[in-house]
Order: sequence, then structure tokens, then C-alpha cells
Amino acid sequence: MIEMQLGPSGVNGRGSGDVPRQGELTPDVIEEILRKFLGLPAAPAVVAAKKGIRPSLCAGCGHRAAFYAIRATFPAGILPSDIGCYTLGMNFGAVDTCHCMGACIGQGAGFYHAYAAGGADFATIVVTIGDSTFFRAGLPGLINAVFQGARFILVILDNATTAMTGHQPTPQIGVRADGSEGRKVFIPDLVRACGVRHLREIDPYDVEAFTAALKEADSFIRSPEGDIAVLIAGHPCIVNRAARQAQAVFAMSITDDCVGCRVCIDAFECPAILFDEEQDRAQIDQNRCIGCGVCVHVCPTDAIRAEGSKA
Ligand code: SF4
Ligand code: SF4
Repeated sequence: MIEMQLGPSGVNGRGSGDVPRQGELTPDVIEEILRKFLGLPAAPAVVAAKKGIRPSLCAGCGHRAAFYAIRATFPAGILPSDIGCYTLGMNFGAVDTCHCMGACIGQGAGFYHAYAAGGADFATIVVTIGDSTFFRAGLPGLINAVFQGARFILVILDNATTAMTGHQPTPQIGVRADGSEGRKVFIPDLVRACGVRHLREIDPYDVEAFTAALKEADSFIRSPEGDIAVLIAGHPCIVNRAARQAQAVFAMSITDDCVGCRVCIDAFECPAILFDEEQDRAQIDQNRCIGCGVCVHVCPTDAIRAEGSKA
């Protein structure tokens, strides 16, 4: 709009081709524009994970922490999921299926019955669904799965909002779309009302506790009295500024212990972790990193460090 008002001449912008016509104006893109404008040499060849190829979960997203723990705990697991920003878990192998909204729970039950028909041993099935999708379409599938005696782990990724479609509040928040107050409806109450007996609530930022809960859930579903285990992985969406400002912020760095294995890129895919091709090692992009500290759990050589709190 500003370019159009100023007219066609003398403006370095989208019209002149100096600014890309598509894509986000991320810090690296703006740096490139400024370097060209100021006649400075090109930036060093630091390449973001899969940069320019596909979108990824936000830096510091709690879903990534949950997905990482699920993949690490059950590398041969079957992982049905659903529609939301968490579908992006597909990028790093944490989501196997995505069909119509709410289908993931029915798929999990179907996979269980198909595999169990071949004998007592069955692959671990971990179904993931977002909190708003669960409210919208998850309940009938869960009731049926409990009633039919399916055995799988259901992880409800609860970020306390409907992030993908514009942060509409969920019934658990107690605020209607017009801002008025509504009577809250709680996910744990709904899960218990569906007949689920094994229910745990954990913040997935605590990767060790979440991993322990996954293992406990797997033991439950395989026990004689077991059926469905539900974990509520609760961590607020980090796009929610108030929630982000309320959490600890660590000063992150990667030490010389980095051996360039790319595990933090390929198995974790935080957009704040870049790979320096020239030096063959990972780096933290301090402009994107929110200092959540979760990536320290990922590096096999303990090269990623989280220190103190910047806040
Ligand atoms: S920081 Fe760790 S996980 Fe990432 S490339 Fe280096 S050694 Fe591998
Ligand atoms: S601390 Fe690690 S996981 Fe968290 S945003 Fe920064 S680079 Fe990503």
C-alpha cells in the first residue's frame, strides 16, 4: 500500500523486485535485502532446517516436545494424528496419518483391532489430537474405542487455544468468541466420562516426565485390565504472549562438542536451530529462539546448553 501511494519510481520494494513478492519477511530474508541495498557482501552460508521448503511448528512449541518424546519412546510405533498445526509433526516422523477431523481416534482403534487379531502382541499406537479438535470431533471416537475395548495411547495436545485457525478460545478457557464469559467445560472431565480409567496430565516441556508417562501408559494398555490410556500434554501456545512471558527463558548455545550429526535438525526441527554447512555444525538463531530449553534433551553429545534465565 505504501509503495502504491508513493508511486512507481525510486522505491526499492516489491514493485522493483528488491523485496520478494511471496513468502515471510523473516530476519534472514530482510538481512539479504539490506545487504543488497547497502552493497554489503552476502551473508555467511547458514542454512535453516528445510528453509523455504515447508512450514514447521513454531520455535518453542509444546507440541514439538511431545512429538519428540513419542518418537524417541516408540520408534516403531503407529502414529495416527489429526487436523491442526500439530499435523506438522509429519515433518519429523511423529505423524503417520491425517484424515478428516476427529478420524485419528477411530483410526487408532481400527489399527489396534487389526493388529490384535493377529495375536496378543501388537505395535504401540499413539494417537495425537489437539484440544479444540478433541472438543469438536474426538468424543464419539473415544466413546466407541473404549466401548469396543481398543488398547492404545491417546495424547491430547492441549495448547489452550485453536491456534491454526486464528486463536479462537476453546470451551475449557471459559471465554466465548465475542469475549463474553461462558461456563467452562474441562477436558479431563470429558475423558473420564467417556469411560477412560488411565488419565495423566503432564507438561511436555518436561521431556523426562512425559517420557515416563508414555512408558507407564504403554504398560497399562498391555496389562490384563488395560484398555485406553490418555495423556493430556498441556502447554500453552507460545504465540500467546502472556503465556510465553510467564515461562522461564534460558540463554541457549551450542558448544564445540557438536559433531554435526543433525539429530537436532532432522528429529526435532526447531526453526531456531540452523545448520552451518561451512563449519559442519549446528547453531542457535538467537532471533528465533525463545529460550524454552527443550532442545537440550535432543543432542546425543550434550552440545546444546541452556543457562540461567535471560528474563
Ligand atoms: S547440536 Fe547436537 S544434535 Fe545438533 S548437530 Fe550438533 S551434535 Fe548433533
Ligand atoms: S531453546 Fe531450543 S527448542 Fe527452544 S526455541 Fe530455542 S532452539 Fe528451539
